[in-house]
Amino acid sequence: MRAMIIAGNWKMNKTNAEAVELARALIDVVGNREHPRVVICPPFTALSEVGKVLDGSRILLGAQNLYPAPSGAYTGEISPAMLLTTGVTYVILGHSERREYFAETDAIVNAKVKLALGSGLRPIVCVGEKLKEREAEQTERVVGGQIDGSLADLGPDEIAKAVIAYEPVWAIGTGKTATPEMAQEVHAFIRGRLMARFGGVADSVTIQYGGSMKPENAAGLLSQPDIDGGLIGGASLKADKFAKIVDSV
Ligand code: PEP
Repeated sequence: MRAMIIAGNWKMNKTNAEAVELARALIDVVGNREHPRVVICPPFTALSEVGKVLDGSRILLGAQNLYPAPSGAYTGEISPAMLLTTGVTYVILGHSERREYFAETDAIVNAKVKLALGSGLRPIVCVGEKLKEREAEQTERVVGGQIDGSLADLGPDEIAKAVIAYEPVWAIGTGKTATPEMAQEVHAFIRGRLMARFGGVADSVTIQYGGSMKPENAAGLLSQPDIDGGLIGGASLKADKFAKIVDSV
């Protein structure tokens, strides 16, 4: 059985005090959940303090990025070992905002994914098409290419530890959501692509949906056979909204 995972991507929001407050509020509402698995991804600066707050709860800590080298002269960057010391177990990689604003290519994402896995972190690998690409019926070509490139050189044992997040770029932070049927179609395509590359292990890979998921649309999306959770941006910044999404699994 594959794990159902609801993850909150806090992006560049929350000072340390605010992050601790939100983490405490989340522990009150979803801190004991075994199912679905709940992961929160605060900014780097708050990881350590939030990690301490989460200690003893079932909520897991995630990061939003890492640099693909173990250490060295990379000013401003963060290594896997640094993340591990704060209690991080998941790391979001290849988010569309990183691809768009920081020119992250599939090759860069692939290097990050490999180092994350080699360091014992579970990557949440983001893929998704832009509006123009969907309109030009290029969704499968684009998403298939991102899957192949971001997961290059991995084996079945490694893919078993990864999570994929399908996030249509046109749905992120826009209030526009893919319908459950539209999302399911792409999720099934992704699973088929993983199956062709890695074999039966693809059946156990969690594929999250992301893009304006909120309490009002979560149940419909999460009831689709190939949608195994959500990567939540805006709605993860409010404990009550996030808890409602967790509850709708
Ligand atoms: C995201 O950034 O991963 C995301 C899905 O954001 P939002 O939920 O705000 O669309």
